[in-house]
Amino acid sequence: MAWEPNIEITTDEMHRFFLREAYKYAYRLSDDPMTKVGAEIVKKTLKGYIVIGYGVNHIPHSVDETIDDCSSEGILSLLTDRNWKINSIHHAERAAIQWTREVMREDPREKTMYMPWIPCDSCADEIIAAGIIELIGHKQMILKTPERWHESTNKAIEKLKQENIKLLMYDGSIGGAFSVFNGEVWQP
Ligand SMILES: [Zn+2]
Repeated sequence: MAWEPNIEITTDEMHRFFLREAYKYAYRLSDDPMTKVGAEIVKKTLKGYIVIGYGVNHIPHSVDETIDDCSSEGILSLLTDRNWKINSIHHAERAAIQWTREVMREDPREKTMYMPWIPCDSCADEIIAAGIIELIGHKQMILKTPERWHESTNKAIEKLKQENIKLLMYDGSIGGAFSVFNGEVWQP
């Protein structure tokens, strides 16, 4: 049976713009050749919605300094090692929260996060702790979630709901962006 994430659908056109930005940002800046994920934190102001934080999945800067083989082949071989990646890579959601606080000097509390995919279990904890109140994903991306992630993402979804975080997934094509997910290049 196909995996059906328990997330409410939205077709509100406003979400397309920010999801597209998250895809474009990830495609440009993630250093993982297999899966590029981007997250954005958006704040509502009197003049409309503005982005106050971006993040992509990436090699932590502390690793850049400690790995023996810093050549692009060396980094590539690390990134194709799934176990290393699961334990080491810095996830987009965490990076976006950090950017919001440390670079933009903004508070992620009460804000919306756009993240085309679904957070893993530990990013869900970070999102809850940061006080994000709404999380918007993209259905066509979420449905690509490999089976090995289902347990973690199901747990994350339940946890976020328990904390009353509004979870939505936009259903429809985004257009104007490329994405790389699980080794596949596709147009969301
Ligand atoms: Zn994560």
